[in-house]
Amino acid sequence: MNFTLPEDLRDMQATVRDFMLGVVEPRAREIEDTNQVPPELMRGAAELGLFGLSIPEEYGGVGLGALGRCAVYEAMGQGHMGFGGVISAHASIGTSGLVKLGNEEQKQHFLPRMASGECIAGFAITEPSSGSDAANIRTKAERRGDVYVLNGTKHYISNAPIAGLLTVIAVTDPSRGTRGMSAFLVEPQGTPGVTIGKIDEKMGQKGALSAEVMFEDAEIPAANLLGPEHLGYREALGILTNGRVGIAARSTGAMQRLLDLSVAHAKTREQFGQPIAEFQAVQFMLAEMEVAIQTSRLLWQKVAWMVDEGQDVRRMASVAKLHATEMLSQVADKAVQVAGGMGYMKDSPVERYYRDQRLLRIYEGTSEIQKLIIARDVLA
Ligand SMILES: Cc1cc2nc3c(=O)[nH]c(=O)nc-3n(C[C@H](O)[C@H](O)[C@H](O)COP(=O)(O)OP(=O)(O)OC[C@H]3O[C@@H](n4cnc5c(N)ncnc54)[C@H](O)[C@@H]3O)c2cc1C
Repeated sequence: MNFTLPEDLRDMQATVRDFMLGVVEPRAREIEDTNQVPPELMRGAAELGLFGLSIPEEYGGVGLGALGRCAVYEAMGQGHMGFGGVISAHASIGTSGLVKLGNEEQKQHFLPRMASGECIAGFAITEPSSGSDAANIRTKAERRGDVYVLNGTKHYISNAPIAGLLTVIAVTDPSRGTRGMSAFLVEPQGTPGVTIGKIDEKMGQKGALSAEVMFEDAEIPAANLLGPEHLGYREALGILTNGRVGIAARSTGAMQRLLDLSVAHAKTREQFGQPIAEFQAVQFMLAEMEVAIQTSRLLWQKVAWMVDEGQDVRRMASVAKLHATEMLSQVADKAVQVAGGMGYMKDSPVERYYRDQRLLRIYEGTSEIQKLIIARDVLA
């Protein structure tokens, strides 16, 4: 087995890391204060091809496989997590349904603008009454002639306030249960009957905007049905499986940054007449962080490789997401501890990571739901 990433991917990782640390991080305070990603950072991301990571080259994207995408996500994780959240909601769950299930006309229509960052994408399944229990969504899509009429409410939808395209999951035939769901390509801006609610006020991940999306007799062209009618819950959730590997990779990058910050601090902060790095208690925290990084990296690399090999990754994507996100929470806690009082201060990136990382154990399936998926598969 060769664990070395190909040279072109390592180069791309280095470029993205430099962008995140050299261009995005200096603007972190501004993003925190305004809850907006400055337009020049969005343009910078577009120039690097970050919006087109998973879009085939023929549609203007970079056309990376899962290994390449996740390598980039790991590099992205080393910078502002809110900024990374905007990109990953777009490039991962916002895009993968269309790439996988879209017909040629749909791809030609949307993908080039998505690859350039002109059209930001998102994915909407969660509703106020169905989060983890996503099989029980109530948003309905009723076929009337050459349109589907959508009614219902989605909430906590990442990128909704800036999205040009949302992949929306709705019930097309309640009598079929979970097999009666379909996916739709919805252009929220300018479609009568589609309303984006006020921007959610969140604990962290500033700049990554989410909101409610309301459908009131919203007419969506039948041509915007994505994949077959009554695609089914399993297929719809396949879009999320793709995202889970990416979250594991982003978590690994975030842990790496937290370790780097902790090492730098431990070597320079002196107490009792010596750098705190000399104390075994601090060394142990650094060692535990390194173990978390190494195990999480191995897992995302394995799962990404499995995706590229065409293997079924439902169990392993959950294993990777569960492990990396739980480890990240522990690493963030240790990083605050190593930093001492400074780790509790707003000026410290560690404080920001501590808040930002918490979301990763919740969205795209909570840790408990990942355990259910793994346990069901183990018992099958
Ligand atoms: C900032 C943010 C962005 C988001 N972005 C998106 C997006 O872009 N698109 C989208 O569709 N959704 C999005 N979500 C929604 C997210 O996926 C859900 O919040 C998540 O799946 C959990 O659902 P819930 O919040 O309703 O919690 P609940 O389902 O109510 O869960 C509450 C608690 O109960 C536990 N629980 C529930 N059922 C079980 C069970 N069977 N066994 C054990 N424990 C259980 C959960 O693990 C959790 O601890 C986002 C959420 C947030 C906060």
